Amino acid sequence: MSEKINVFWFRRDLRVTDNMGLQACIQAGLPCALLLILDQDILSQPSLSKRRVSFFLSAVKRLSEKIKRIGAELHILKGTPIEVFTELRQKNNINAVYFNEDYEPYAVKRDQQVEACLNEGNVSVHRYKDVVLTDYRDILKKDGSPYQVFTPYYKKWQFMPKERSIHIGSFKTASLISDQTENFEPSESFAIESDDVMTTFFKRKIGQYSDQRDYPAMDQTSHFSKYLRFGIFSIREIYHKAELVLNEENSTENERQNVSGFIRQLAWRDFYFQLLHHHPEVVDHAFKKKYDGIKWENNRDHFSKWCEGKTGFPFVDAGMRQLNTEGWMHNRLRMITASFLVKDLLIDWRWGAEYFQEKLLDHDLALNNGGWQWCASTGTDAQPYFRIFNPFSQSEKFDPEGHFIRKYVPELRNVQGKHIHRPFRMSDKEQHHCGCVIGKDYPHPIVDHAKRRERAIVMYRML
Ligand code: FAD
Repeated sequence: MSEKINVFWFRRDLRVTDNMGLQACIQAGLPCALLLILDQDILSQPSLSKRRVSFFLSAVKRLSEKIKRIGAELHILKGTPIEVFTELRQKNNINAVYFNEDYEPYAVKRDQQVEACLNEGNVSVHRYKDVVLTDYRDILKKDGSPYQVFTPYYKKWQFMPKERSIHIGSFKTASLISDQTENFEPSESFAIESDDVMTTFFKRKIGQYSDQRDYPAMDQTSHFSKYLRFGIFSIREIYHKAELVLNEENSTENERQNVSGFIRQLAWRDFYFQLLHHHPEVVDHAFKKKYDGIKWENNRDHFSKWCEGKTGFPFVDAGMRQLNTEGWMHNRLRMITASFLVKDLLIDWRWGAEYFQEKLLDHDLALNNGGWQWCASTGTDAQPYFRIFNPFSQSEKFDPEGHFIRKYVPELRNVQGKHIHRPFRMSDKEQHHCGCVIGKDYPHPIVDHAKRRERAIVMYRML
């Protein structure tokens, strides 16, 4: 029999540094084999986002190269996790499998099945908290039930001890015997960028985060989301770096408030993760059940125009085009485009969530669902249904000069002054002067915001 080994299974934690499960696997003392499965249950789904797969594979490639540099090997195997582990269990002398917990309903089920399969072969399974700072067990009400409202949750979250970042030193590696090894060359269409993202944010942006995070043209948010989605960055490292800035002696009260605003967003992330765990039904249903009864209009033509960024509402269109081209959208625009789909076009929030799922590189079920249900007023602790964003005044407030709109909607580039927010108000002369004829170069608004707003309120109120 070959030597006894432990296996660490990478999933949404594609890094060697500060990785809880990997650290535990190494500390267990046996030689450690590193595994990544190209999960055919996921990769064979027809609705799979090609751009996110491209990004994921480029992260896998980078991980594999990093692992090579420390003298080890990442075993990349293709198959369903059950197929892979059934074979590995037979061909290798595996003592235990280690991984970090994943809280999505698909992953929870997959891990239960994998654990049963491994236990059958006398292989033990060890899970760790790594993806979040606090998980669904950590913050509960006195009666043991989960929080559904963010503010009291956050009060507790702030005082919860957060694990330190860990340094992973050298370790004894092991090889895996398998027939399912995969050599792949990821396409570079949505490749991973450099590590500068982290340095730039902590050096130049965090001190103004809250003051500027709502102005998309300023681009002052961290852009960590796609790195967090696949665990390329460690959430603990981000949190503790922010804490360091918060506690710097020479930081001003204003800077501290800005940093606290950033940390609060990390708490929202944990909040939505625990919510999804306790309420997996929210994936397909309104958290507030009565809103499953809304009779959506679901006009397909309106939906296509929303997807393409051709609604005639410049801020909405700019956001959608940012999403379509970059696979990322600024948070303020996510709120505005989502609210517009649901409350102006009266289209089911699930259609929008699915479109975001296809296009976002950072798509995370817990956060996307939480965000959509917040905007649709169907979620826990959501925007009240009668508070409806006016897409015109939102852009006047958050993109006053129209820089963001002009960047993503080039046909409006030469529109002058305040007309950038409501280009349909230009006279014929003004339209010709700026080379943007409404109805030809850029559409008329596809709905009347004031009327639709009234309609949405009635629709919600009726339930
Ligand atoms: P920053 O502002 O720099 O925030 C830092 C980190 O905090 C983010 O990376 C994220 O992990 C977390 N965070 C920030 N805002 C929120 C929030 N409102 N709720 C929960 N966590 C937050 N985020 C995703 O990561 N994946 C999604 O699929 C996703 N879908 C969304 C859908 C809608 C309709 C809405 C309104 C929001 C969604 N968000 C999603 C939350 C938020 O928009 C993004 O996390 C943020 O825009 C990512 O940019 P950033 O990393 O620069 O964020």
